[in-house]
Amino acid sequence: MTKIGFIGLGIMGGPMAANLVKAGFEVTGYNRGRSKVDKLVEAGGRGAVSIAEAVREADIVITMLPDSPDVEAVVLGEDGVLAHAREGALLIDCSTIRPDVSREISGRIRALDAPVSGGEQGAIDGSLSIMVGGEAADFEAAKPVLDAVGGTIVHVGGPGAGQTVKAANQLIVAGTIELVAESLVFLEAHEVDTEAAIKVLAGGLAGNRILDRKAAAMVKREFTPGFRVELHDKDLGIVQAAAREAGVVIPLGAAVAQLMASLKAQGHGGLDHGALLKLVAQLSGRE
Ligand code: NAD
Repeated sequence: MTKIGFIGLGIMGGPMAANLVKAGFEVTGYNRGRSKVDKLVEAGGRGAVSIAEAVREADIVITMLPDSPDVEAVVLGEDGVLAHAREGALLIDCSTIRPDVSREISGRIRALDAPVSGGEQGAIDGSLSIMVGGEAADFEAAKPVLDAVGGTIVHVGGPGAGQTVKAANQLIVAGTIELVAESLVFLEAHEVDTEAAIKVLAGGLAGNRILDRKAAAMVKREFTPGFRVELHDKDLGIVQAAAREAGVVIPLGAAVAQLMASLKAQGHGGLDHGALLKLVAQLSGRE
């Protein structure tokens, strides 16, 4: 049986770890604070009180942490994964972090970067899209584990390539949310029935997953995360740095990055990224 150590049992990591238990893996989880570890234990997993305890016996270590410094600390830090994992254990980092940090980590420990898309619902359903960077043989070794949490799993290139694809994903998602937000505020200002409008828009060329999955909550001003503004702000920082590095100009991406940063600066970092609608309404003098 493959033993998995899972670190970071938050909005995404919690349900991913639970799905691994359901698929028959022996999962030992660790998170700061006890409550999220207890939830994994309720789901049939094992709880650890330290990174060392979570990874010591593991064949595969999965990390699902907020940002690059968190992954660096957990993997490379004193008392981290590198210090305590077994020789030859494979790290699968599912967090969204900077591609250069993923490359650095893969130089120190056998690792794949495997960021995900599909949101909290995708994590609960085990239907995430997973973009994987690293060695082909490691991808093959990880595939049965990734199959338990994902629906679309693609090896996109060498170390860091998964993060680069994820950055493109976040550019598309942020831009689409902004356009949906602008459309909804526009429709409201014209006193059009937004529910009817969303239905017909979703059936045409303008149809997209944000309309399907987020527009209704945006209209109701329900911004419980989901995906927090502060995380998307982090991701748009990654996108902008990577675009600059490649000499690629992203005018719409730069604009939406500023809007996301503004939302965070106004104290809304903890809201769902659908809260871009709040900003559009405010800029239009409607909120
Ligand atoms: P989250 O904040 O809910 O979960 C992160 C967890 O890591 C938290 O429970 C936190 O306590 C824990 N943690 C942080 N530092 C730690 C440490 N040093 N030791 C142990 N535990 C630690 O975040 P999330 O929404 O689950 O996102 C995780 C990653 O996945 C992020 O990189 C995010 O960008 C990405 N992501 C999120 C979504 C989404 O919809 N939420 C979708 C795709 C990708």
